Amino acid sequence: MIAKVIVDVPTGQTNRLYDYKIPEEMEEFIQPGMRVNVPFGPRQIQGFVTDTTASTEVKRIKEITSLLDPSPVLSGELLQLGRWIAEETVCFLITAYQSMVPSAIRAKPKKRLFLAEDSEAVPVEIADAFAGKTILDWEAFPAEKKAMKLLNEEIQAGRVIVDYLLKNRTEKKMQTILSLAKEYQAAGSKHNLSGNAKKQQQIVEWMQNELGDKEIAQPELLEKTEAGRQAVRALVDKGLLIEKKTEFYRDPYKDKMFQKSTALPLMEEQQTAVDNILESLHKGRTDSYLLHGVTGSGKTEVYLQAIDEVISQGKEAIVLVPEISLTPQMVNRFKGRFGAEVAVLHSALSAGEKYDEWRKIHRKEVKVAVGARSAVFAPFDNLGLIVMDEEHEGSYKQEDHPRYHAKHVAIWRAEYHHCPVVFGSATPSLESYVRAEKGVYTLLELPQRVNRKAMPEVTIQDMREELRQGNRSVFSTLLLDKLKERIDKKEQSVLFLNRRGHSTFVMCRDCGFTPSCPHCEITLTYHHTNRRLKCHYCGHEEQMLHTCPSCQSSQIRFFGTGTQKVEEELTRLLPEARVIRMDMDTTSRKGSHEKLLDAFGRGEADILLGTQMIAKGLDFPKITLAGILAADTMLHLPDFRAAERTFQLLTQVSGRAGRDELKGEVVVQSYTPEHYSIQHAKTHNYKAFYQEEMLQRRRGGYPPFYYLAMVNAAHEDLAEVMKTADKITEYIRSSLSEKAVVLGPTVSPIARIKDRYRYQCMIKYKNEPELTKVLQSVAERYNSEIAKGKLQLSMDMYPYMFM
Ligand code: ADP
Ligand code: ZN
Ligand code: ZN
Repeated sequence: MIAKVIVDVPTGQTNRLYDYKIPEEMEEFIQPGMRVNVPFGPRQIQGFVTDTTASTEVKRIKEITSLLDPSPVLSGELLQLGRWIAEETVCFLITAYQSMVPSAIRAKPKKRLFLAEDSEAVPVEIADAFAGKTILDWEAFPAEKKAMKLLNEEIQAGRVIVDYLLKNRTEKKMQTILSLAKEYQAAGSKHNLSGNAKKQQQIVEWMQNELGDKEIAQPELLEKTEAGRQAVRALVDKGLLIEKKTEFYRDPYKDKMFQKSTALPLMEEQQTAVDNILESLHKGRTDSYLLHGVTGSGKTEVYLQAIDEVISQGKEAIVLVPEISLTPQMVNRFKGRFGAEVAVLHSALSAGEKYDEWRKIHRKEVKVAVGARSAVFAPFDNLGLIVMDEEHEGSYKQEDHPRYHAKHVAIWRAEYHHCPVVFGSATPSLESYVRAEKGVYTLLELPQRVNRKAMPEVTIQDMREELRQGNRSVFSTLLLDKLKERIDKKEQSVLFLNRRGHSTFVMCRDCGFTPSCPHCEITLTYHHTNRRLKCHYCGHEEQMLHTCPSCQSSQIRFFGTGTQKVEEELTRLLPEARVIRMDMDTTSRKGSHEKLLDAFGRGEADILLGTQMIAKGLDFPKITLAGILAADTMLHLPDFRAAERTFQLLTQVSGRAGRDELKGEVVVQSYTPEHYSIQHAKTHNYKAFYQEEMLQRRRGGYPPFYYLAMVNAAHEDLAEVMKTADKITEYIRSSLSEKAVVLGPTVSPIARIKDRYRYQCMIKYKNEPELTKVLQSVAERYNSEIAKGKLQLSMDMYPYMFM
């Protein structure tokens, strides 16, 4: 038998399936989706088995060296999905597969087998292999055909458990679960323990009274009965207690109690939304829904109730949430409703924790996966619903290979499983809203806040006017007054500082000199914490300058407004205010994010000051004022989505105020208050913004009127990259239809990164079925130069970043 293997060498030359002979003893064991070690040239290399066949064209065939996984890590569905992603995003197949499994599993973990039940329950060959123990190294299992076949069956049946032992991690624990044997479960039922086995009698009686037929973990039993291990062992040996081994997960949320929540009676529009989604679920239809609901309209409750039905149908659900909205508050809402049925996939988890969460899904121990972008690959086999909350978020697009958009993957999987998919947002992306208008997605609307609560009132403060009146502070007089008012009334405020465009940089006041990175064409950023200058692209660092290298002036200073500076100014202007600052600096340590939010929730501060990370998901009843310090910093970025992002951000931040009984208010400070994205955010008018922005997009020839693709070439030699970019652009132009617009090549907005010069070519198109093939052949043409490490080429089919 032959295995088709994709090897773990991400290069153009190796981006194909290789044939390997399956050793006879593995024939009945090996399955697609398992990983293997194979000889490859002089080396041993990992690979995924994608298929098995009976014959091969290859004459001198090599044999698989060893099997890495006792059970497949990729299902048939995910193997197929990986092929689609590789094609759609023009990446190597191995890269697509690697992105679907947790990184911990890639790090060559040690594999072990656990016997989950008594050795009598398994075939004698298996019992022999374990030789009286309950743990066996996978490598030590006899490589013999019959035994392997039997092992396969035992694993399927759950009597043998496969475990991956991570390096530098506390190993996954097996826990002993105990229960009374059937005949001893009733309280007072007879046993023939001798009179001097006091402790044993005590245990049995306690269990009869407290547990009956229920199970208990051994450590808990020992604690409750103050008994020793020997007493319990003796009871197991005598057959009064039944012992079972189960896995014990590192649960990052285990110390937290989740307040149990129950379904709320729905508002009419919510009910309509749930009914629609469930109809698709029951009929097994792949319908895509756009749930457009203003902030605080109860979208999450719609997801929760739809998922409840999914679970009772015996199916599973994936909930995608942008990384920064995956706050403890958000997690609590799902854990509170579905408890242990929920796995959470979050980038802040350690590799081991992520792996555990992934395994819960892989082993069908949970029904719901809540997580950021990559959770879209959650290895469920029976999906009933996929939800993508805040569907407009750019973070759903992966900016590294494979450059996929989670939305496209979600739709692919929904089609595979014949289940509905819901995209939710208060500010849908134009791409999605236009699809809803055309009927590709079904539009579900929640136009009002729950219980018809009013939207907060938004005031726009013209900062140019403030300047004219001599106020050079980052706070307008109006905002300061309102902040004071809140402190007096013992209410809370959030202050939002847009990080983008606000990094602190250094400039000479005399000649205008600004230090930039010697390797990248970008200004260095000043870091308060260690008083050094740093490049955000390559990590280059240098000392803060005290004299200007260009004119020798000592008037060289840093500019810009970081959160730290704003905090300083705030405490100077409002010394009575208690401020909590949330930014990269104060939340880098694990758990600090949650601690700060909890403190704010307990009312230990009046003002929460922060960056992007506070714009989402905060739901505190005492917040009645939201302030945005500089609304327009994003408007001037070289990005056609700048206005859309500004509108989304303002809407999100306003959504934080007045979510409960108290009425909310918003102050937006701006240097361009007349801009339509700011004006329409003021009136909470998504539709008007959408219409105006659509006109702009049509004029510029941007999505959703055209699709975009981008090719970026980078090389150390400027002449070389210009030549290559020219050739590539010319080739693309000649290969596509007349209707495609091929722009460039032009130098990228950041002209050099890590000593490589960068050029780009942008493609605007409506219908080019050959496009991915054309780009694929571009990549193939330059394979050898890329392999030599000289040239870098990146293809992006859904570009979100234009730097
Ligand atoms: P969104 O996700 O649209 O911003 P949420 O789902 O967070 O809105 O809902 C806002 C608040 O309203 C939450 O505190 C939620 O518990 C509450 N809520 C949602 N639906 C209902 C309902 N039908 N009845 C009462 N309260 C509700
Ligand atoms: Zn740099
Ligand atoms: Zn100078």
